[in-house]
Amino acid sequence: MKAIFDARQWHHDPKHFMANGRQQPNPEQPKRIEVLKAGAEAAGCQFEEPKDAGLGPIAAVHTAEYLTFLKNIYRRWQYIDGAGEEVIPNIHPANRRDGYPKSATGQSGYHQADTACPIAKGTWEAAYWSAQSAISGADLLIDGGQSGYVLARPPGHHAFADMAGGFCFLNNSGIAAQRLRAAGLRPAIVDVDVHHGNGTQGMFYGRDDVLTVSLHADPDRFYPFFWGHTQERGEGRGMGYNLNLPLARGTDDAGFLKALNTGLERVTLFGADVVVVALGLDASVDDPFQGLAVTQDGFSRIGAAFAALGIPVLFVQEGGYLSDSLGVNLTRCLSGYQAAL
Ligand code: ZN
Repeated sequence: MKAIFDARQWHHDPKHFMANGRQQPNPEQPKRIEVLKAGAEAAGCQFEEPKDAGLGPIAAVHTAEYLTFLKNIYRRWQYIDGAGEEVIPNIHPANRRDGYPKSATGQSGYHQADTACPIAKGTWEAAYWSAQSAISGADLLIDGGQSGYVLARPPGHHAFADMAGGFCFLNNSGIAAQRLRAAGLRPAIVDVDVHHGNGTQGMFYGRDDVLTVSLHADPDRFYPFFWGHTQERGEGRGMGYNLNLPLARGTDDAGFLKALNTGLERVTLFGADVVVVALGLDASVDDPFQGLAVTQDGFSRIGAAFAALGIPVLFVQEGGYLSDSLGVNLTRCLSGYQAAL
């Protein structure tokens, strides 16, 4: 399987992470790259560098206002007297329609949904090349490839059209799906990350030409809390084109696979001719987030389930954090897919 990665993705090295009222090391560490790359190579992936397709395919799903913020905010932040090393919001609008502040602090609160997406010197560059990797991944399929893997890091599925959040800045899966759509294909995005793909849902919520499906730990008691419930089905033309499948904490392989089959049936009935898998590996029983309990064998079966769709599949890396099985889970998923073709 062909795979895409750019070394500039190493340049994002976030430090700040606040959970349960305590400052902790940020789990979205660059070291993930090493582990995931080895895991993909063990499944036979051959890596290439992405081409630079420019900002057009990114701006097709993100607002120009947000991209202006993301590209410039680190430099602007340095003008604040005594500013910290990373751009982290300390105030959020109660209502996002209430005007748009001029100050760096105000815009940080407007465009960063939480404190888990700190922006430092290399963040824009890493996010840009992560997104370009997803675009080149989509191009593999547009050019007739049957599958591909994108090592996208920082991840993307919590990033909305105009808002970062949860380690994510540019929505790589959404950008890839839009790239496929622009080429005349009919994409579905299936998000198997343990966290709900709220940014992806938000991005396509009013659209009927890109189906969004997400399996995740029930957000009643799990990040991102405010999104991911079953009643969120889309709006306007998009009503009925978003499917959320929240799972009880600790759900095992059998429960996960059953919900995945429900999601994949929707993909088939949508008439999708290509699938973007938002491939979080943090549903693993070994993941530090401890939301669900998918085993290594479960990841193999998840890969096989996507092969059974019989249409081209692009795997785009989302979450999945350092544990003894992170790399193995990726190997098993991609190998399970290839073995079932
Ligand atoms: Zn996640």
